[in-house]
Amino acid sequence: MTESENLFERAKKVSPGGVHSPVRGFRGVGGTPRFIRSAKGVELLDVDGNRYVDFCMSWGPLIFGHQDPDVREAVEAALGRGWSYGTAEPYSLELAELITGEISWVQKIRFVNSGTEATMAAARVARGATGRSKILKFDGTYHGHADSFLVRAGSGLAEMASPDSAGVPRELAEATIVVPLDDLKSVEEAFSLHGKEIAAVMIEAIPANNGLLLQKDGFNRRVMEIAHKQGALVIYDEVITGFRVGFGGMAEREGLSPDLVCYGKIIGGGFPVGAYGGRADLMDLVAPAGPVYQAGTLSANPVAMSAGLAMLKKLKRENPYSRLEARTTALADRLEEIAHEKGAPIRVQRFASMFWTVMGEVATADGVVRTPTQTPATQKERYARAFHTLLAEGVYLAPSGYEVSFLSTAHQDGDLERLVKGFAKTLA
Ligand SMILES: *Cc1c(COP(=O)(O)O)cnc(C)c1O
Repeated sequence: MTESENLFERAKKVSPGGVHSPVRGFRGVGGTPRFIRSAKGVELLDVDGNRYVDFCMSWGPLIFGHQDPDVREAVEAALGRGWSYGTAEPYSLELAELITGEISWVQKIRFVNSGTEATMAAARVARGATGRSKILKFDGTYHGHADSFLVRAGSGLAEMASPDSAGVPRELAEATIVVPLDDLKSVEEAFSLHGKEIAAVMIEAIPANNGLLLQKDGFNRRVMEIAHKQGALVIYDEVITGFRVGFGGMAEREGLSPDLVCYGKIIGGGFPVGAYGGRADLMDLVAPAGPVYQAGTLSANPVAMSAGLAMLKKLKRENPYSRLEARTTALADRLEEIAHEKGAPIRVQRFASMFWTVMGEVATADGVVRTPTQTPATQKERYARAFHTLLAEGVYLAPSGYEVSFLSTAHQDGDLERLVKGFAKTLA
């Protein structure tokens, strides 16, 4: 028995499924999760002494890799000042000023502790602002695990029997309208049926929690126009895409100004941070300035704020985006080439520094997967096999065929080569 297996047995006795977030449990790929003792750069070291090149990167936050020296330095300095004051402090102010100074549609911002909290609060603001109750979302997008959004949502659920969670009251689920991705007609129909009840459309700026479901150019823009015409707000969920596809996220790339935007992941430099922000008139509805209540004992934690600040400053300074994107594109092309040579029907969908391997025949005309139903039925099983072959080769991908992988600036050519070689082996 390996030490990971031993720890997993113990963990299952004291925590549901032995983990604290579902996809970590390896249900999607089978086998035992590796218990990680430490991580540095691109490398994970498990309790059995195995080393892996990490392409999961804590699910996105670590765009500079593990233990980035600038983040570490900021965190160590912050620790020396104490780690929770429960009152006003200058660190969140500096981070808020940096973000609002750089991103014009974020006029005001509130820090919370996770992406889930951010989307939950943004929806509350939208409801408070409009006096309407319904939220429109898309089938297969994930916005964290608040009740309103656990309706046809994302990878953790894609691996369960139902796309919805037990324990969400029907009355609440009914306040969420779900329409298919890549289908503007359905958006228009939903608005013509429920227009006056819809407080906001919640858009996952690039749906990246159920595979990387690339939408056609202009899709988000058109959804935004339809929503605004009916007096609904647009909430951009940029928890993954914010500071990843560009400093200003997807909205910046598309030239759009959403009413409200949600951040998480990168914004905390690897610490638990989320944020929601947007138009000043909307954000001023939040307590204590306004009537929409939202609070947090540990919100704007000074250590986490310092980590986030170091991360975002470094992103501004180094602007790694085009380089990351070029390397990801080259990597994805290379993987497709190898698959093509071996006659394997594999496509690597990519955007900026994210990529997702589609394993099987895709029935769409251009071969692009844009909705969860277009993902081949072979995905789960084939990905699971590839995942374990790669794991044995010392490469750690996200342990689910419905999750994306991430490149960081810490990945060197040799690390990518490791993935390419391992991938070729999975096809042998
Ligand atoms: C990760 C994620 C969330 C949830 O964030 P947590 O910090 O896990 O609560 C919400 N929306 C999107 C798009 C995400 O990728």
